[in-house]
Amino acid sequence: MTVQASLTSDIDRLDLDGPMFDPTAFGLNDEQAEIITSARELGQRVFAVRAPTYDRDAQFPTENYRDLHRTGLLGIAIPKRNGGLGADYKTYALAAAEVGRYCGATALTWNMHVCSTLWSGPLADDLEMDATTRAEHERRRAMHYKRIIENGAVYSQPFSEGGAAAAGGVAFGTEAKPVKGGWIVNGKKIFASLAGHADYYGVLCTEVAEGEKASRRNTLYLAIPANTGGVSVVGDWDPLGMRGTVSRTLLFKDAFVPEDGALMPRGVYFQAAMRWPHMFLTLSPTYVGLAQAAYDFTVRYLRGEVPGTPPVKRRMYPTKQVAVAQMQIKLEQMKAIWFQAVNEARANPSKEQVLRAYAAQYSAMEGANEIATLAIRTCGGQAMLKSLPLERIYRDSRCGSLMLPWTAELCLDRIGREALYETGESDD
Ligand SMILES: Cc1cc2nc3c(=O)[nH]c(=O)nc-3n(C[C@H](O)[C@H](O)[C@H](O)COP(=O)(O)OP(=O)(O)OC[C@H]3O[C@@H](n4cnc5c(N)ncnc54)[C@H](O)[C@@H]3O)c2cc1C
Repeated sequence: MTVQASLTSDIDRLDLDGPMFDPTAFGLNDEQAEIITSARELGQRVFAVRAPTYDRDAQFPTENYRDLHRTGLLGIAIPKRNGGLGADYKTYALAAAEVGRYCGATALTWNMHVCSTLWSGPLADDLEMDATTRAEHERRRAMHYKRIIENGAVYSQPFSEGGAAAAGGVAFGTEAKPVKGGWIVNGKKIFASLAGHADYYGVLCTEVAEGEKASRRNTLYLAIPANTGGVSVVGDWDPLGMRGTVSRTLLFKDAFVPEDGALMPRGVYFQAAMRWPHMFLTLSPTYVGLAQAAYDFTVRYLRGEVPGTPPVKRRMYPTKQVAVAQMQIKLEQMKAIWFQAVNEARANPSKEQVLRAYAAQYSAMEGANEIATLAIRTCGGQAMLKSLPLERIYRDSRCGSLMLPWTAELCLDRIGREALYETGESDD
């Protein structure tokens, strides 16, 4: 079955799901609501239908990216003056949760793409740069944005290397050596979502001059065109979940990157990681969407309303009612803390806000899979067949806790340590 062939006119007659975050209840303005609604409609009408094929074949959602471009959502966080939708952090996060509800792999890879514009855009605007550097950054990012808006260029964000760098512990092992007009990049990135499908790889690497020691302060964020000499994609991708992300390994061997490839000026990524920590919370919307999807499925299934299944009602059993109540409570708790954390994303957050961001990430990443687990137990055997979306939601949701730098384990680590120790404190 091809992806296109699976789309039928029935989709146009679908009853649209309600928003995850009602604009009135959550205080969203008309413009925010409109962007988020368009993401939800595209997700439900189109992405949900294609999701089983991408998952089964571990195939990248190329067709979805064409639709994201067509609808303007590829440039969601690009400023309006550059032709984008000009969405702020919160609007993007809520839109991404709506996409995650219908196709986890599309939402997760869309996040990698959007971050290239969010980090170089509204986030960089909050950081310190002298006037010359800011003007140069403005010129460069306009070039990147133009490619996205006009040509539908897709950016990825490979930073994992299999060592301690992606957790923020040490400098990235992928190195950029300054040469005339740019850099020569050498290194390897694992789990590089969109590998072989992005037009530009937004690589985090360490600028190292001859004889210098690698330092996190010298992290560069470079957009490397996929067709650059010395760039290759190796290995296969056959994972438990998030199969459509196609997160294969990227190799860089003496790849030349011109100066204009810098998505952030020197020193600004390090500044962002220190001063704008919510930049790492953007992997969570996908999983909030998956949690909502598991809950929605369960309610429909127990009411006998899942399309393609017999209209058998199972809602009258008290045990099922209790399970749904537990799922609803977990979901509301997750959405409440997550919305608050997303709402207060900004430069220089307070300690309380940072701890809340870790807690929100943990709640979304662990909670999505807990809700999906309860959904499978409650709906029963017929609901976990591959003809229905629940087992995919379950597998996709298991991946959230593994996403560096804020894995579930590292969030626990940080909350415990930072709650008990002030900066610089020790027991010695
Ligand atoms: C579906 C999917 C898509 C992905 N896409 C991307 C992508 O596009 N770009 C990208 O850069 N990465 C991506 N990743 C990679 C992800 O962020 C992790 O880097 C990857 O899962 C790390 O796996 P690992 O086993 O090498 O982790 P390891 O480094 O072996 O760590 C294993 C676990 O140990 C813990 N740990 C690690 N370091 C520390 C530490 N210093 N202190 C305490 N505990 C620690 C963490 O909890 C971690 O989960 C993706 C992962 C998945 C599952």
